[in-house]
Amino acid sequence: MKKDDCIFCKIANGEIPSASPYENEEFKVILDVAPANRGHALILPKEHFDNVFEIEPETAGRIFAFATKLAKAIKEETGCDGMNLLQNNGEVAGQTVNHFHLHLVPRFKGDAVTMTWKQGEADAEDNVKLAENIAKRL
Ligand code: AMP
Ligand code: ZN
Repeated sequence: MKKDDCIFCKIANGEIPSASPYENEEFKVILDVAPANRGHALILPKEHFDNVFEIEPETAGRIFAFATKLAKAIKEETGCDGMNLLQNNGEVAGQTVNHFHLHLVPRFKGDAVTMTWKQGEADAEDNVKLAENIAKRL
């Protein structure tokens, strides 16, 4: 299903033009209009899913599988030194477009991109309990 007021639905389905190195019947790759670095790409499903909590696992699986191929192509083309794969879900997590998308951000030595956080300290007991509780929900 597409969502009427969703810009990524329109881009993924060709109603709005984009720079796209690849598409198939299920998803489309576009280059970000405001890239963190040259070659910053997004993979968008053609069907609308708000985020990771909604996307069908099979679709997500094929998107992530394709990302491994795309990552190599971007690396070869841009000569990047590394790459971040990033996928934001919810405003609190930095999602600004509420249509699932996977970022591939090429990284260059000395670039100004930041994707870091202050490391916390795990409560070992709580982690064990938490792992058990999550396991029950899988
Ligand atoms: P996020 O913050 O994870 O939701 O990422 C949204 C991304 O979409 C940002 O990196 C934007 O630069 C990018 N973006 C927004 N509008 C467009 C557009 N029309 N074409 C390509 N990329 C876009
Ligand atoms: Zn959409």
